Amino acid sequence: MRLEALIYFDILDKMPEKELQSILISAAKICQTPIAIITAVEGNVHHIKSQIGLSVYDIINDNPFFDKVFNSNTFTEIQNASLDASMANNPTVIGYPNFHYFAGVPIHSADGNTIGTLCVVDQNHKQLNEVQIELLDNLSKNITNLINLRKQNKNLQNELNQLLNERINQTEIDLEAYKFALDQSSGVAIADRDGFIKFVNDKFCKSSRYIKEELLGQSYNILNSKHHDKSFFQDMWEVISSGDIWHGEIMNKDKFGNYFWIDCNIIPFLDRKGKPYQYMAIQQDITEKKATEERNNLEARLISILSENEPIDSAIRHIAEQICFKLQWDIGLYWKTNSQENTLSPTLYYQFTYPHKESMRLEFLKTIFKKGEGLSGLVWERKKPIWIEDLPSEPPYLNQNIAIDNNLHSSLLFPISFNNEVLGVMQFFSSNIKKEDKRILNLFEFLSTQIGAFLERKIAEIELLQAKKDAEESLKSKDQFLANMSHEIRTPMNAIVGFTELLSQTKLDENQLEYANSVKVAGENLLSIINDILDFSKIESGAISIDQTPSDVSQVLKNVYDLLKVSARQKELEFSYEFDKNIPQTLICDDLRLNQILINLVGNAIKFTETGSVRFYAKLLSTEGNTHQIEFSVVDTGIGIQNDKKQKIFERFSQVNNDINRKYEGTGLGLSISKNLIELMGGNLEMNSEEGKGSEFSFTLNLETGFKEKADTRSFSDLKNHTDIQPKILIIEDNQLNQKLARNVLSNLGFNVDLAVNGQIGLEKLRQNSYDLVLMDLQMPELDGYETTRIIRNRMKLSIPIIAMTAHSMIGEKEKCLAAGMNDFISKPFNTHELFNKIVSLLSINIVDIESKNELDTMDHTHSNDVLPNMSYLHELSEGNQVFENELISLFRILVPKELIL
Ligand code: ADP
Repeated sequence: MRLEALIYFDILDKMPEKELQSILISAAKICQTPIAIITAVEGNVHHIKSQIGLSVYDIINDNPFFDKVFNSNTFTEIQNASLDASMANNPTVIGYPNFHYFAGVPIHSADGNTIGTLCVVDQNHKQLNEVQIELLDNLSKNITNLINLRKQNKNLQNELNQLLNERINQTEIDLEAYKFALDQSSGVAIADRDGFIKFVNDKFCKSSRYIKEELLGQSYNILNSKHHDKSFFQDMWEVISSGDIWHGEIMNKDKFGNYFWIDCNIIPFLDRKGKPYQYMAIQQDITEKKATEERNNLEARLISILSENEPIDSAIRHIAEQICFKLQWDIGLYWKTNSQENTLSPTLYYQFTYPHKESMRLEFLKTIFKKGEGLSGLVWERKKPIWIEDLPSEPPYLNQNIAIDNNLHSSLLFPISFNNEVLGVMQFFSSNIKKEDKRILNLFEFLSTQIGAFLERKIAEIELLQAKKDAEESLKSKDQFLANMSHEIRTPMNAIVGFTELLSQTKLDENQLEYANSVKVAGENLLSIINDILDFSKIESGAISIDQTPSDVSQVLKNVYDLLKVSARQKELEFSYEFDKNIPQTLICDDLRLNQILINLVGNAIKFTETGSVRFYAKLLSTEGNTHQIEFSVVDTGIGIQNDKKQKIFERFSQVNNDINRKYEGTGLGLSISKNLIELMGGNLEMNSEEGKGSEFSFTLNLETGFKEKADTRSFSDLKNHTDIQPKILIIEDNQLNQKLARNVLSNLGFNVDLAVNGQIGLEKLRQNSYDLVLMDLQMPELDGYETTRIIRNRMKLSIPIIAMTAHSMIGEKEKCLAAGMNDFISKPFNTHELFNKIVSLLSINIVDIESKNELDTMDHTHSNDVLPNMSYLHELSEGNQVFENELISLFRILVPKELIL
């Protein structure tokens, strides 16, 4: 009740003056009084709440009339205050302002309590009529209504406020909960529009390992790990500065230089204009997740490196690189074990992020540990990975001075083992303290054997390759030896055969003639074997090349026929050849090699045919433009070849029937050589044979039409007749036979010749005289041709042309000569025509207008078994000088047997 009254008083008290004033004006007007008053009761005291017409209303503040109205609780009127006992002595009645009239009605609250009064006062006597009284009463009720409305409003307001407060409280609680949750789960940071940090929560501090004060006011850059390139941050900046939320993963760097990964949302806070004024980053630390990802990734990557067929060094390097990159280590080393010496030595130093220190690298690379010594030696001994978090706090025996001196802290090592044997140790260093990670250690325990198996496989591969290379080398040197030997033997063999032929033409008794013939036959056989071996080894070493010269193919067939008709006749075989007339006369081919092939095939046919016939032919199959497809075929009615042996006959040294071959002889090389030569010419040797009936060997070649050039048949004698020059040539040669030969050939060609019997004398002569050209032997004792040439070129600084003479025609020989400073190269026994041409071209002598008079034979020194028996070569060399020929023959008799023994 009391409280209620208070509330009403309060309401009435706080009612806006404007509303009360209009009521007071109405009351004064209705009652026609100058004064109207509203009082409110607080306790027992009336306060004038509002009034009109009073100038000093305080005076009537405690006017008993208000109590009267209040207490009567109904309309009360004092028409003449001087006559009213309660008012007659009131100062406002007795004195100024001399009130005489009072009337008033109580003001009630909605629940019927009286809370104040509405009174009118006048200085004159009067009396209100009923209407006035009723209207005054209505006005009082209006006030009640107003108060009531007010009260209701107030209640509503209160309720509203309460509601709002509750809401606010709830929101605050919720917000607090959200904040708690956010703080628990996420790092939060707020940065201003320029990226300077304004706020960070604890979690943010925890993952960055900074304290709040160290971060506030700093640029966000403080966390930049440099892992992402500039465009990454540019893109992010573009998104957030345009007001959008950015989401992504970032690798940051903490206070101590360790990297950590965050999954981050950056939310821009926008001002009224929609421009960001700050950015809030809400982030989760995903370092662990990333590490797992990276570990899985690393495992997959390392396994893929191992499966790629990389050489060991680069595979190890890639492994180190991946481990450094994916697991954030700064430096990687690979220590290789040497189980014989019981040592570990570094074979790889890989640097990832660490600033390069050459001195450290060099120090590491020269450190060698024994088993059990140093960290890597310990890993070797224990065969287990080791993780050291902080090297300086480890015992000094671990011998990690280099690392410690260079501020490296953590180290991870794991062995690379195969079959429980450690092949090497991988070691990684970090300049930060990295906490031991069991999962990584487990991973490396697993990878250790994988990498080991890879290394073992690789080492086996390398050994295999080396073995293959060695085998090839030894094969090559065998071929080289064969080639050299056959070449060396061939020269004197040619002479043996030739001189035996000469011998048999002298007067001999029957026995002597038979012996001489036997020597000749044996010599010829030997020569043919040697030629085969030489060809074969040349083919093997790739030294053979096919000449492409205009040739008369019909002549080739005729030569073969002429050469072999005697043996065919001896066996009473029908022997014939056919040459298709449609084949052009001149075709581009290697006629010597074609000759060789046909001699082998036709020779075999005769050899393996006892009765019947041997025939061979060349047939034009087709012509297209300039190219003619020609089939060459050799057909016999001989013993044929067993089916199961057919493949074997093309293999080198293969003779398909040893028993038969005892009878027939041979090397088993002919077919292999022929087959290879045909293939080099672009054809394919085919065979058709039936045992007991005969065989056919055939091949097809595509040959182009050519025009035979007029052979260059000029001699220097011709040249001599047309010019005054007589170039001076120095022959440096130690072999007397060759000296004679060369001197004679060159003199015959019209050159002025001088001789030096070894390199030393050659140099002496070159110092004292002037020459136009040197013909230099290569194989000389003490100072050989190469060395002599080097001295001529490098010390004497002479540019005189030098032609090398050698018995070798091996691959690379010419290049060796040229590298030593020689200008050209000719093989012995030399072809006069070739030697002449070479000299002429080196002396740059213009002989274009000289007509040829004297034809020089083109000598074939590789297929000479059909030319050597006659003495044309000797005659050509001597140009018919009998004295010279005799001299040469006697020299030959003395020297060749010695050379053969050698
Ligand atoms: P060889 O020097 O032994 O003749 P080849 O390589 O020329 O070596 O021939 C290899 C082997 O092939 C011969 O030993 C022989 O057994 C067989 N052969 C070659 N040609 C014929 C042929 N026309 N008839 C029968 N057998 C042949």
